[in-house]
Amino acid sequence: MSLPKPEELARVSYQPPAKGWMEVKPEFRPGTYCNAAAPKWLEWIDYPFPRQWSVADEDWQLPANWKEIVLAGMEDRLARFRSLKLFFDICVRCGACADKCHFFLGTGDPKNMPVLRAELLRSVYKRYFTRIGKALGELVGARDLDEDVIKEWFFYLYQCTICRRCSLFCPYGIDMAEMTLLGREMLASVGLNIDWALASVAQCYEKGSHIGATPQALKDMMEFLAEENERITGIKTPVYLNRKGAEVLVVVPSGDYFADPGTYTFMGYLLLFTYIGLDYTFSTYAAEGGNFGWFVSHEMGKRLNAKIYEEAKRLKVKWILGGECGHMWRVCNQYMPTYYGEVPTFLEEPVSPITGTKFENAKVHRMVHISEFTADLIRHGKLNLDPQRNAHIKLTFHDSCNTARGMGIFEEPRYIIQHVLPEGHFFEMPPHTIREKTFCCGSSSGINANENMELRMQGGFARANALRYVHERYGVNHMGCICALDRATLPTLVQYWVPEVEITGITELVGNALVFEGELERTTDLRDRDLVGFGEQEGGEEEE
Ligand code: SF4
Ligand code: SF4
Repeated sequence: MSLPKPEELARVSYQPPAKGWMEVKPEFRPGTYCNAAAPKWLEWIDYPFPRQWSVADEDWQLPANWKEIVLAGMEDRLARFRSLKLFFDICVRCGACADKCHFFLGTGDPKNMPVLRAELLRSVYKRYFTRIGKALGELVGARDLDEDVIKEWFFYLYQCTICRRCSLFCPYGIDMAEMTLLGREMLASVGLNIDWALASVAQCYEKGSHIGATPQALKDMMEFLAEENERITGIKTPVYLNRKGAEVLVVVPSGDYFADPGTYTFMGYLLLFTYIGLDYTFSTYAAEGGNFGWFVSHEMGKRLNAKIYEEAKRLKVKWILGGECGHMWRVCNQYMPTYYGEVPTFLEEPVSPITGTKFENAKVHRMVHISEFTADLIRHGKLNLDPQRNAHIKLTFHDSCNTARGMGIFEEPRYIIQHVLPEGHFFEMPPHTIREKTFCCGSSSGINANENMELRMQGGFARANALRYVHERYGVNHMGCICALDRATLPTLVQYWVPEVEITGITELVGNALVFEGELERTTDLRDRDLVGFGEQEGGEEEE
């Protein structure tokens, strides 16, 4: 399937269709949707209605009683989530959210306006759960649930990355992300799942990580990265696995030890832990901090998350340190104790063993984000950093939706950046595209497949546009982030829209800058790229 050229995709028409929204059916065009989940993934996790079906087919082979199942599911969720009923009832159609979604900005499709995306669900709620909708039907925006409607849900609920940008601008705080999650749960209840997300979920459930790596493979990959550290820096960075009685359990997304550029961030973690002598362990059981289960249903999110606390308990650690990940952080910070059913009193309230700082914000879930941990080390003068080792990098910072808008981690990564980059090497993107207003990468929430690449490039258009601005104006050549999904999705996005820019984790930059006693003379960064001003003869001339 060929991807349109950037100049073609950038020509977005915002002209709405002449017909009313209920009359316009989604166009399932290759490149704009994800493939149906293969039945084996549903079988692995005991999910309902595994079957071979294709989104392109007319007949999606829905179970005979699919409509009853979906309506019973909506009734159940209306009872359990008061927020859902509230969000359905209080929208005043003011339109403040309309142009805030990156999918609307990138596609021009009115059904990607959050107000209309919500209406796809709300119209069914009205028809079956409100008196006025039952009586007046379409006159009041209510409609029957039929196969066209369920197909429309599938199409547009997988064109929402649960980023919550729209809710920031809604005067009532209506949260489309929450509605999308619950809508996806209802789709899953009749066997409508996407392959990319469910394959990751099933492999994580069955084998321990999204990539399905065995414990041996995980150990090999981590040790290879430690060897890379030693080759480049001369410093041994031992990998500790399943070590009972360690002070800290470190949980990272598998993308960090499996795929570039996350691997360089992982090398940075090892260098940092070695530098400060952290008493830590990874786990081959809690081998995945990411949680694609949360993109499918709360129940699946809970199942995948459970092993983090269980492993912390088994290993008798004091607290948990989380790697650079966005949705992992949102799940752990916002849901983990609730999923678990109690505050994990077998853990202590996290205290940095190096600085003595008590992380008050982690009182309940007892897990600290690596950015908070590192920023605290720097603030207490515990790291010897040479920013000149990152002089080849002109950086901007992409606030990941989940860490930034979801959890308010704005300052810590910027504080670290200030200390690991030379002065004048950091440039912010325009204010309406960063911090809590950040634009999504466009491929999060389980839709970073290959078959929907056109949609992904459209969804990331707004992010890429802001990046292009700082690239052209200031010569920015790297975009940093503290999210593994971003490190997985942004390289593809920038390759398409701003190919001169590379993606980096922030701990990678820390790893570059850390000065160890007895290290090799550094001439390259962790990616084997030459450093500026290092390894040169007096007078700046390169050796012949
Ligand atoms: S949550 Fe994000 S992706 Fe979903 S409708 Fe809102 S802005 Fe769009
Ligand atoms: S901003 Fe809020 S109230 Fe206004 S249309 Fe959007 S969801 Fe409805």
